[in-house]
Amino acid sequence: MGYAVNEVFLRVDLSTGKIAKQKFSQEIYKKFLGGSTLGSKIVYDLLPNPGSVDAYDPANPLVFAAGLLTGTGAPGCCLYGVNAKSPLTGGIGESESGGHFGAELKFSGYDGIIITGRAEKPVYLYVHDEEAELRDASHLWGKDAHETEEILKKELGDPQIRVACIGQAGENLVRFACITNEKIHVAGKGGMGAVMGSKKLKAIAVRGTKGVKIANPQEFETLCEKWRIMNMAAPSPRTISEYGTAGEIELFDFLGDMPIKNWALGTWEGIEKLTGQYLASIADRIPDTCFGCTLKHRYHVVIREGPYKGEYQGNPEYELCASLGSLCLIDDIGAVVKAAELCDKYGMDGIACGNVIAFAMECYEKGIITKEDTGGIELKWGDPEVLLSMIEKIAKREGFGNILAEDVKIAAEKIGKGAAEFAIHVKGMAPQMHDPRSGVSRGLGDAVATGMDDGNISEWGGPDPELGFMKPLDRFSPISKAEYVIKRQARWIWLDGIGACNFAAMGVPLRLQAQVLSAATGWQPPMSVEDILKIGDRVTNLRRCFGIKSGWTPADDTLPKRFLEEPKTNGGAKGITVPLKPMLEEYYKLRKWDPVTGKPLKEVLEELGLEDIAREMWG
Ligand code: SF4
Repeated sequence: MGYAVNEVFLRVDLSTGKIAKQKFSQEIYKKFLGGSTLGSKIVYDLLPNPGSVDAYDPANPLVFAAGLLTGTGAPGCCLYGVNAKSPLTGGIGESESGGHFGAELKFSGYDGIIITGRAEKPVYLYVHDEEAELRDASHLWGKDAHETEEILKKELGDPQIRVACIGQAGENLVRFACITNEKIHVAGKGGMGAVMGSKKLKAIAVRGTKGVKIANPQEFETLCEKWRIMNMAAPSPRTISEYGTAGEIELFDFLGDMPIKNWALGTWEGIEKLTGQYLASIADRIPDTCFGCTLKHRYHVVIREGPYKGEYQGNPEYELCASLGSLCLIDDIGAVVKAAELCDKYGMDGIACGNVIAFAMECYEKGIITKEDTGGIELKWGDPEVLLSMIEKIAKREGFGNILAEDVKIAAEKIGKGAAEFAIHVKGMAPQMHDPRSGVSRGLGDAVATGMDDGNISEWGGPDPELGFMKPLDRFSPISKAEYVIKRQARWIWLDGIGACNFAAMGVPLRLQAQVLSAATGWQPPMSVEDILKIGDRVTNLRRCFGIKSGWTPADDTLPKRFLEEPKTNGGAKGITVPLKPMLEEYYKLRKWDPVTGKPLKEVLEELGLEDIAREMWG
């Protein structure tokens, strides 16, 4: 066992029931970090031929991995990542979740779990202080994520057990099914819950009492205190801490960033009733938090009056206020709270879910689908009951919900009649709920993303001296955006690799984060910003090669027509479309990706220490 990490993963073959331990060297952690960045490397190695293996094939590995600092007590370092070939994009699916599951996994003696194969009947995995066993989960199949967690805690007789599980959506292979832990935290993007469902793995229950060893505890504590202070001194974390990420909606609306009416409008008066501040005025809030976080921005909601009066688990993040609210023209925050809770219970990514329902609403408005197609449901904009009913139908694959359960790209293909024009996705996956016309670097980030977080980039946060950007960038100009995106992708990869929540790391320099990692692991000297950028390049190129082997071509590095050709008619990004072509050309040049095949050049892969992949891609 090393400092900060256990240097061991659990390996579970569901087809044979065999359980073993797999050691990992310090070198691999230094090269790929942990969490979903190391998880990507593991998936790459275990699935050498992704182009000929379906995401639901038993051969598709499903990897859970805690970040390097997860469980150490470093501020907001609570993330675990989940990776597998994505049923949405065909690339390496990448998703993170907070809460306490990742830390508990570390305490149980493992940095992660590698799942292969498929069980004959539903099972769950119980991990407790290095012991691990597969147990029958027939009684859990058909239960939602909240019920599953409660049953397992009771059955295993320990309220401290942390559970990551799928709901009915994962069982039914809803393509954007997620994995829910502790009821309100989700590994949402990429369809990882569907892969888990395809393996008939209902849940992982974890309990550990071992703690995590820190190499230099005193230095670690001092540096963590500095981290906390710098984080709380930054403006965004203060708002987020008070009102959740939905506390920033007014800003996003001002910038023309919030998606409205299936990404067609620039602003809308209903937005003011979707803010975290508005929710605080109509509901009581019960605080919740993730392991080691002082920001504590999660809470439970008790709505005091109205049609959605009642108590709900969790508060909808900004993303869900957008996807389940403004994207469908729904301005009832109570309905959004309920819809978000339903998504968590059924185990569906609320972003993709709102995105596909908004798509269907636009198809209905345009007469592409009618009541005959929807089983009598009038898919009208702004109707909360339609939203709630469609969420249930999608999770259960009932009626028209069975088509929408395939997500927008495939649903549009099935519907035909020009529906594809209104299907907003990149490589088959819904974008994050930020409009790339409000800051065009996001358009480039979305188009070339190899995972989930690395597309989530915007330049309106001001200068970024640590990454060499001394002045704010013009948010509508393509100039310097390729370099900016490359560096910001590396920052995301770093955060995911060390297991740090983005909100809890805002305002905290990378150098300080690297010092904390050094104090925790004992690695000397601390990684430099250049080291961090190089790791970002390594992980991005590894994922890119997987995507290419899975069938991606340069033609897939694009955006929906709506972002490229349809300027908004109102709001803070009025008149703007994304100038993707010049940014993309520059990005390929800086990345040294072959413009014909989209492959990273051999020399780049070799420079990054990916010689095996270089040989595989180029001979
Ligand atoms: S900022 Fe919020 S999501 Fe992030 S670790 Fe803290 S409570 Fe969890």
